[in-house]
Amino acid sequence: MTGTDLPGELSAVSDQLAAAGGRSSAAVLKSYDDHLMRTFGPPKRVFVRGEGCYVWDADGRRHLDLLSGLAVNALGHAHPTVLSAITGQIATLGHVSNFFATPSQVALAERLDRMVTGGDAGARVFFANSGTEVNEAAFKITRLTGRTKIISTEGAFHGRSLGSLALTASEKYRKPFEPLPGDVEFIPYGDVAALEAAVDDRTAAVVLEPIQGENGVVEPPDGYLAAAREITSAAGALLWIDEIQTGMGRTGYWLESQRSGVVGDIVTVAKGLGNGFPIGACIATGPAADLLGPGSHGSTFGGNPVACIAGLAVISVIERDNLLTNVTEQGARLADAITAVDHPLIDHVRGRGLLRGVVLRKDRAQQITDAALDAGFIINAPRPNVLRIAPPLIITADQIDSFVQALPGFLDQGARA
Ligand SMILES: *Cc1c(COP(=O)(O)O)cnc(C)c1O
Repeated sequence: MTGTDLPGELSAVSDQLAAAGGRSSAAVLKSYDDHLMRTFGPPKRVFVRGEGCYVWDADGRRHLDLLSGLAVNALGHAHPTVLSAITGQIATLGHVSNFFATPSQVALAERLDRMVTGGDAGARVFFANSGTEVNEAAFKITRLTGRTKIISTEGAFHGRSLGSLALTASEKYRKPFEPLPGDVEFIPYGDVAALEAAVDDRTAAVVLEPIQGENGVVEPPDGYLAAAREITSAAGALLWIDEIQTGMGRTGYWLESQRSGVVGDIVTVAKGLGNGFPIGACIATGPAADLLGPGSHGSTFGGNPVACIAGLAVISVIERDNLLTNVTEQGARLADAITAVDHPLIDHVRGRGLLRGVVLRKDRAQQITDAALDAGFIINAPRPNVLRIAPPLIITADQIDSFVQALPGFLDQGARA
């Protein structure tokens, strides 16, 4: 089964709609090359259908998705609860603009307030459609503190807009797009002394990922977030925690910062929140919650009822099915099993829960990722010497074992390639 065919009534609407289905992989890739901007490099597969932790390509081959659309498909593909929440909402009311409120929007805001603050600190939420956009909102909040300086870290990734690029240290990404919004200083990640030295009474905010996902799943030393909390509070600066990749249960906590008992003044989440339906949330507590006022920010689609019901459905299923426990258990199983693989290419495994990096002794991550894909396993290579594994939170022990058993073969193939 290839699953590329659309329902007959859609195909009857127009040739273009019919053309969205029923094409071979080669035809889709040819059209992609002709019509899409080359921001991502040539795609490696054409996928047409997903269910649980598996996706099928246009040639009918099944793949175990150990990347979750980049930490997005927390409940896997075509989850029945998310599906019925989204289809029920869109069939009832799909969009109304931000002149008006909807019940699903306020229900999700209440739930995110409870997630971040425990419910008693009175957080406020700004909804948008992606991680970058909620980081943009957070950036604008910091500008309204009366201070402008932002401290970011080397290796950080906060998105691709000009604002979020200004928070990214990499010269390679920044240079072509300068001038970027200014007054951003970069310090080494995980270094408390550098934080202490950099933060002063001119600092508006410190922005941090609890684990640097794009940088190759880099963890800070124990106590780093707690120190950042103390240092920012003492200087009257905001602590802005970017949980876009680490949040929504990915590491076994709703938010990875909760492992350290730290609450940010601003917390941004996105990726896993909508299980693939685009949504992000900027959650602010304390005085930071009241800085954006009428006219200072906005979004046409942000907070629409379909995206918000998707977020509520995801959170409800994580709760109902005790998935945080599954993340902790399967994450430990994955890390222990890979650590036990005796192979000269593996140096060590890092990360938490179901956000793991396998650090290699040689720059072979892309070749190994390609070998895994050929065998029907999706992982990626955020750095030349790091494999990233971020499966759906519903992954089972058997599925993890099937990957780990096959891994030495991929390592051998990658070493030879
Ligand atoms: C992915 C990511 C972003 C950007 O999110 P988009 O939805 O791609 O705009 C920002 N910060 C972190 C930590 C991320 O992992």
